[in-house]
Amino acid sequence: MIALGWAAGQGKRGAVVFGIAIHGGAGTLPRTEISAERERQYRLGLAEALDGGRSILEQGGKSLDAVMHAVAALEDNPLFNAGRGAVFTYDGRNELDAAIMDGTNLRAGSVCGVCHVKNPVELARAVMEHSDYVMLNGTGAEDFALSRGFALVPRSYFHTDERWRQLQRIRSGDIEPSALTISHVGTVGAVALDRHGTLAAATSTGGMTGKRFNRIGDSPVIGAGTYADNRCCAVSATGHGEIFIRAAVAHEICARVRCGGQSLAAAVHEVVHVELPGLRGEGGVIAIDRHGHIAMEFNSEGMFRAAVSAGGETQVAIYR
Ligand code: ASP
Repeated sequence: MIALGWAAGQGKRGAVVFGIAIHGGAGTLPRTEISAERERQYRLGLAEALDGGRSILEQGGKSLDAVMHAVAALEDNPLFNAGRGAVFTYDGRNELDAAIMDGTNLRAGSVCGVCHVKNPVELARAVMEHSDYVMLNGTGAEDFALSRGFALVPRSYFHTDERWRQLQRIRSGDIEPSALTISHVGTVGAVALDRHGTLAAATSTGGMTGKRFNRIGDSPVIGAGTYADNRCCAVSATGHGEIFIRAAVAHEICARVRCGGQSLAAAVHEVVHVELPGLRGEGGVIAIDRHGHIAMEFNSEGMFRAAVSAGGETQVAIYR
């Protein structure tokens, strides 16, 4: 069941390693619904986002900048369920959630239910760096955005016809709202280790198509969809958010590595293939540890993902 477990961060002898991995969502991705051209576009979008993050790390930049840059690039790409191209709520809105975490000092910032912020991951970082809070919600988060000089965008910015059609299919009962079909897939995330030994994680999503009552998933919940701790690892998750919150997936993986003495690969494997299925939780995670090892695993049909390490090639994959 292991999808990919690249041995990252080798570098030259004595060189300080760095590494970055990203995801673009996990779920049921029938090959019949993704044409060859569409697959090429997904792969290109992932490779470009990864390359942006990688060049920051190569030049000695911070992992925090690398994950934010990679996630913002995916938010700008309408193929993914984050920023432009986010899924619709039952009421026909786009409500966006994002989080970022700095493994140096466990500082974190997150926003949920924002409707006018072009790059929610950037606002999450502003919450972390320029407020006394960790998590801001809805119009309050947007007031904070204005106070920090963010330009708000109209709701129409996030609209894509494809996501709108998917909402209609959910409304008509054609698709089960909680199923991780292509109708929801596309949450994005990144994890990175920089040359200074600092880990960071970021995640951004529109959540689940047809969500109601200001539902919030795991992505902006620190410890559920996003976590980073320099003592062990950084994790970004994607999948059925309610289950990922209950299993505290991202923190669970970190705790297994830090306190349980497990390798990153073992911790990720157990959470994705034992803990989550036990709760009927579908999805996957990307993770990187303080040595630069990368794990990317999922228990669903596929997960859009890519990774690179110092001296290594870029690898992009969708299916097992
Ligand atoms: N985890 C996200 C949520 O539940 C959705 C996803 O990753 O596909 O909001």
